[in-house]
Amino acid sequence: MTAQETSTLSRLLIVDDDPGNIRLLASIFEDNYEILFATSGKKALEIALRERPDLILLDVVMPEMDGYNVCQCLKNDALTADIPVIFVTANCDVKEEVRGLEIGAADYISKPFCPAIVKIRVHNQIELKHAREKLTRLAVTDGLTGIANRRYFDEQLAHEWHRADRMNHSLAIAMIDVDWFKKYNDYYGHQTGDDCLRQVATMLSHTAKRGSDFVARYGGEEFALILPTTHSQAALTMAENICEAMRELALPHPMSEFGRVTLSVGVAVGMPTINENAESLVAHADEALYRAKHHGRNQAMLFQPKDY
Ligand code: GH3
Ligand code: MG
Ligand code: MG
Repeated sequence: MTAQETSTLSRLLIVDDDPGNIRLLASIFEDNYEILFATSGKKALEIALRERPDLILLDVVMPEMDGYNVCQCLKNDALTADIPVIFVTANCDVKEEVRGLEIGAADYISKPFCPAIVKIRVHNQIELKHAREKLTRLAVTDGLTGIANRRYFDEQLAHEWHRADRMNHSLAIAMIDVDWFKKYNDYYGHQTGDDCLRQVATMLSHTAKRGSDFVARYGGEEFALILPTTHSQAALTMAENICEAMRELALPHPMSEFGRVTLSVGVAVGMPTINENAESLVAHADEALYRAKHHGRNQAMLFQPKDY
């Protein structure tokens, strides 16, 4: 990608207590980037958090809060840690440059600088940032359906489990399995099977649409749902809504007794205690799913501790 192509999407935050310096840097970049600016460290942190620019050009010597301090705050906050920071400073002392790079700056540019080189350095850092973002996205996305993959589910479950523990909340999960899917594949072929899984994923994303709900492909024709701060009855209702939404999609399945594609769902609700962990919650939901299958499929079941 050329600098021109990248620029339409990219935003630079220029931080300098001297407006003249901001104007100079802005004049180099304004044709290709959207420019944000701040004349103090405090303002820079506010803007970085709110606007999430693609890169920050940061002056070192500023009153009140210097550039090193700003950079450290940015790197300590998970929401801004991934924004590359380039120091731009009149100070060309090697020790200062080492310090800047050690606290997490991507690059260090001493004044006077050559505009053409500054442009390329900024462009390169933004390219790297976009490549990192793409890798992160790919690492957590299921290639077939585009929803979260198993790895992301495991991470999210651990995260929500800890949160439920801290907040003393319950956490519900649902394990969802397509009924008679082997027969579906055998009848229609693998590609239509893949299309079916994509439609299930889309339906699940539309049905579990509360901001905190999390939908993932668990593997094969199994999907999983995390429902934070949800109690048994609400979780079971959600699972039943999912079964109903699947029936309403009415995807033909001549080899199923229901004539259409259906789902079985197992639901478990946990309160993090010393006796329970996130893995046992998954095992409980699996147990309920197993019962839903054995009670005739095309239904949702809630895990009952007494059954265990
Ligand atoms: P049950 O109602 O008991 O769940 O029966 P089932 O046939 O759905 O279960 P089984 O575990 O016997 O078969 C699952 C099938 O899912 C077999 C496998 O080929 C198919 N499958 C798994 N992953 C994919 C995929 O990515 N694409 C397609 N098309 N099929 C898949
Ligand atoms: Mg299965
Ligand atoms: Mg199945």
